[in-house]
Amino acid sequence: MATTAQPELETPAQPTTAKAWGVESAGAAALPLTIERRALRPEDVAIKISYCGICHSDLHMARNDWGMSRYPMVPGHEIVGTVTDIGRGVSRHKVGDRVAVGCLVDSDLTCEQCRAGFEQFCATGATLTYSGIDRQDGSLTQGGYSQHIVVREEFVCRLPDSLDIAKAAPLLCAGITTYSPLRKYGVGPGQKVGIAGLGGLGHMGVKFAVALGADVTMITTSPGKGQDARELGAHHVLLSTDAEAMASSANRFDFILNTIPVSHEVGPYLNLLKPNGTMVVVGAIDSLPGLHGGQLVMRNRAIAGSLIGGLPETQEMLDFCGEHGILPEIETIRIDEVNQAWARMEKGDVRYRFVIDMASLA
Ligand SMILES: [Zn+2]
Ligand SMILES: [Zn+2]
Repeated sequence: MATTAQPELETPAQPTTAKAWGVESAGAAALPLTIERRALRPEDVAIKISYCGICHSDLHMARNDWGMSRYPMVPGHEIVGTVTDIGRGVSRHKVGDRVAVGCLVDSDLTCEQCRAGFEQFCATGATLTYSGIDRQDGSLTQGGYSQHIVVREEFVCRLPDSLDIAKAAPLLCAGITTYSPLRKYGVGPGQKVGIAGLGGLGHMGVKFAVALGADVTMITTSPGKGQDARELGAHHVLLSTDAEAMASSANRFDFILNTIPVSHEVGPYLNLLKPNGTMVVVGAIDSLPGLHGGQLVMRNRAIAGSLIGGLPETQEMLDFCGEHGILPEIETIRIDEVNQAWARMEKGDVRYRFVIDMASLA
């Protein structure tokens, strides 16, 4: 095992194999696979994966819903684990560190977006954690439903000691996706914030908005989720199916985080914004019908989008969670339960994120 104490030693030149679960073609069931992890480059960190969250994107990508999938595919971009080895040029991490990897594993690091900390918008295309193409050797990247992974150090975050590693994985996608827009739009004390949709994203949105000091309302279609929302910290619940309640909440919110994962009419939600209010869409990568310019123009309202977060902000989010004791609500599963978990996730039958215990893969 190479360490920083022996800089003269070359790190292992041989690739290693890892047990994993993934899909061999679009729409196929997940099954055990063996994948190769590259030999460490000077800038690389080898990570033993302890837990990996299941994101809705994993299912979309496994089925090629977005037409960008490559196979075989080992999904998973909510990764937490421990550093087991480092390349000779690595300075940010050392063997034994608790670390985390999210949706990206590489970018050019030199373009305007990367230099500004928005690697997700890299001008030459950020490398996705899975179903991406490695920038140096052209191999297919494979994700976190596996025993270990090799990632360049700039794309590896530190996991604060205070966070339970068994619960933290979903912060790497669901967490940063909701934290980033709340921060960008300055959500804080004195503001009325609506979180639309209570799922993997929405439940993190509630926790972050509450921790940032806002007055938080869960906006949901289902009466049954009201109690859950309050237990997560929401101060109020607004039923979007209750026309009277929606009408009396018009012009009420400074900011709405819209986590609804499917196409939906946005007009009723825009109506809830105060003048100069903003609604940020993070869930629906789909058409948004019912948008009328008058709803924006007549109140200086804005509608915007947000995609995960760059690496500096992802680290900031993890540190914020460490300071405030914020963790996702999760259900832990074994790797051989992943197909059932996907089916349940599709029905919305999870509170609120599945996490795979990778010890079940040994
Ligand atoms: Zn994700
Ligand atoms: Zn770039």
